[in-house]
Amino acid sequence: AMKIVHSANLSSRLPVRGDDEFAALASNMNAMLDRIEKLFQGIRQVSDNIAHDLRSPLTRLRADVEVALQQEDPVKYRETLERALEELQEMQEIFQSLLSLGQAEAGSLQIRKKPLNLSALLEDMAELYAPLMEEKEQTLTTRIPEGVTISGDRQLLAQVFSNLFDNAIKYVPAGGMIELALARRGERVEIVLADSGPGIVPEMRSKVFDRFVRLDPSRTLPGTGLGLSLVKAFVELHGGSVSVSDSRLGGAAFTILLPVT
Ligand code: ADP
Repeated sequence: AMKIVHSANLSSRLPVRGDDEFAALASNMNAMLDRIEKLFQGIRQVSDNIAHDLRSPLTRLRADVEVALQQEDPVKYRETLERALEELQEMQEIFQSLLSLGQAEAGSLQIRKKPLNLSALLEDMAELYAPLMEEKEQTLTTRIPEGVTISGDRQLLAQVFSNLFDNAIKYVPAGGMIELALARRGERVEIVLADSGPGIVPEMRSKVFDRFVRLDPSRTLPGTGLGLSLVKAFVELHGGSVSVSDSRLGGAAFTILLPVT
């Protein structure tokens, strides 16, 4: 006889004997248990990551506040508080990203689509990031035809391109190249941000868009692993898609397709 398993530990499976409908039912149940277990593992992984990512800025914040309380020199006191503020901002960004992701997934994120001059937005972003790239001796090339307009939410799309630019600047070594191109593709527009950085190995190309996925296990560079998840969520809210491939510059090329209307 079959025994129903009441257990928080989902590892037990029903025995599948013979090939009658009970066996079919049992193996369906087992498949369902597999899926539930995977889901739980995912949830646990996400909460572990949140705890981990918030712990470091929180620890530094606490240290800063403790130091500040001991400081008599007003200049040093102020410097310490400014550092503490940066830690706070980092935590706030993590929370904001998680909130936006949650809202995007629940379909409750406010998206305000309006006619948007994408050419102008990309030019503005390139101008905004140029000084940072210059600082890292990275060369930015743009191929942006004038007057490409779509229907989109300026703020969300600006965040999408900021995240991609931030990554390019972060992961492309000094002296490298970054290329931004915009093109019409029938009823859609294509935006490609290509770079000469380390690239992304093929088996990780779909995974990097998941929350908290970071390729560098030693975590030498700062980051939360949320940037590309937001890129994907915001692009999909526009009915578009994003993918990553090899770039002819040697690194990664992120391609975004957006419907014109
Ligand atoms: P974060 O940059 O905060 O780690 P993201 O979600 O923006 O998180 O990116 C996820 C991971 O994808 C990064 O940790 C990095 O390993 C990889 N990645 C993103 N952009 C690039 C890029 N331009 N070149 C190489 N690797 C990248």
